[in-house]
Amino acid sequence: MKIHLFLTQLFFVSVLCSSQLLAQAVKDSKPNFIIIFTDDQGYGDLGTFGHPTLKTPHIDQMAVEGQKWTSFYVAANVCTPSRSAILTGRLPVRTGMYSNNRRVLFPDSDGGLPAYENTIATLLKKEGYATAAIGKWHLGHLPQYLPTSHGFDSYFGIPYSNDMDRINDITTKEAFGNSKIEYFNVPLMRNEQIIEQPADQTTITRRYAEEAVKFIEANKEQPFFLYLAHNLPHVPLFASDDFLGTSERGLYGDVIEEIDWSVGEVLQALKQHGLDDNTYVVFTSDNGPWLVYNEQGGSSGSLFGGKGTSYEGGVRVPTVIWGPGNVKPGVVFKMGSTLDLLPTFTSLAGAKVPQDRIYDGFDLSPVFRGEKAIPRDEMFYYHGDRLFAVRKGEFKAYFYSNNPAGYPEKLVKLEKPTLFNLGHDPSERFDLADLQPEVVADLVDIAQKHASGMVIGKSQLEKRITKVE
Ligand code: MG
Repeated sequence: MKIHLFLTQLFFVSVLCSSQLLAQAVKDSKPNFIIIFTDDQGYGDLGTFGHPTLKTPHIDQMAVEGQKWTSFYVAANVCTPSRSAILTGRLPVRTGMYSNNRRVLFPDSDGGLPAYENTIATLLKKEGYATAAIGKWHLGHLPQYLPTSHGFDSYFGIPYSNDMDRINDITTKEAFGNSKIEYFNVPLMRNEQIIEQPADQTTITRRYAEEAVKFIEANKEQPFFLYLAHNLPHVPLFASDDFLGTSERGLYGDVIEEIDWSVGEVLQALKQHGLDDNTYVVFTSDNGPWLVYNEQGGSSGSLFGGKGTSYEGGVRVPTVIWGPGNVKPGVVFKMGSTLDLLPTFTSLAGAKVPQDRIYDGFDLSPVFRGEKAIPRDEMFYYHGDRLFAVRKGEFKAYFYSNNPAGYPEKLVKLEKPTLFNLGHDPSERFDLADLQPEVVADLVDIAQKHASGMVIGKSQLEKRITKVE
């Protein structure tokens, strides 16, 4: 009898130990990664980045618990090249995801992200990660370019911008001043299939959040990478009934506040399943605000310029990085870039960046941990295939100028570079070129060395689908 009792106790103790071991093993396993990428949200368009009327409590709380990066850059000032860079870790000029004429992909484009390119998903999938893309893709809508051909197990979203496929007889004023979903015949896709057209954009942010939560729940026992790329707040603006007309900032505010709600849903799902201490969440935007849309566009806050320009307002984006227990809370003034996420995630996953090509990013994980490292000290600002400006430390030299509103483009090659100190003068008001010619010379030298080693890839954005009549 005593032996039976002993064996029973031993059984329960061993079950308890193995379940604890299992829990420990899951906790110690490779970390999860989530990128939340908004479209055309400006540097000034979050509460935590100083907006006076937008209410973004969930993202603001992320910034309190994690890191707010004040000098975080995208690699291009418009959607397609910027999106290619965050996923590949390579400058768009290398991958061919740039153009001087058609600056992004359109519904009649025949190109997309080449099969040769690795995305974060491709690399993490090799490490046993579950991968999903939800939202805007904009790296090619033909089957061979879709997320499922680039390392993602699944895709749910609108394959290009939400203002494309506009019906012919609607004026721009009507389309963007009094938007209706039927004005834009954009498709909603699941994997390679169109499941809704036109996509109901009033519910799209909510549905992306629901899909994200479902993916997290379905993969809570294994490492995952979720790329959640919102179509909004790119114009035309749409919000669901729960948010429409609720923000002090008007319709643009309704949209941002719904996105903020959706961030809260994602974080809540992580906490509910005990994944918050093993998940890194990066919140950022693909380029600056589309200023020509006035109230319907965002704000670059104290920065100069907007979308379509490589002034700071076009490419410096509001960024928060969250990972309780893994990301040391604080404000980070160091430079970072979406180009850095591929090497950073690869490093945190215990994998290596492939050595068969040039990557343009740096491993930011020491900064996440709060170490005194400066992985990135330079930034190269491209406009198409032109090197528009270079930053090193606090100094930025320009080789071109442009319309600060971005549209219409007015690109001018400068006879001599201009120079700004982004530390003293973040709004780029005071040209120091004549006062500090030695700094200009140093930046010109950096630009020349960079350009001399650059192999520019063939543009994938020019070719249109040939219609067979
Ligand atoms: Mg954009």
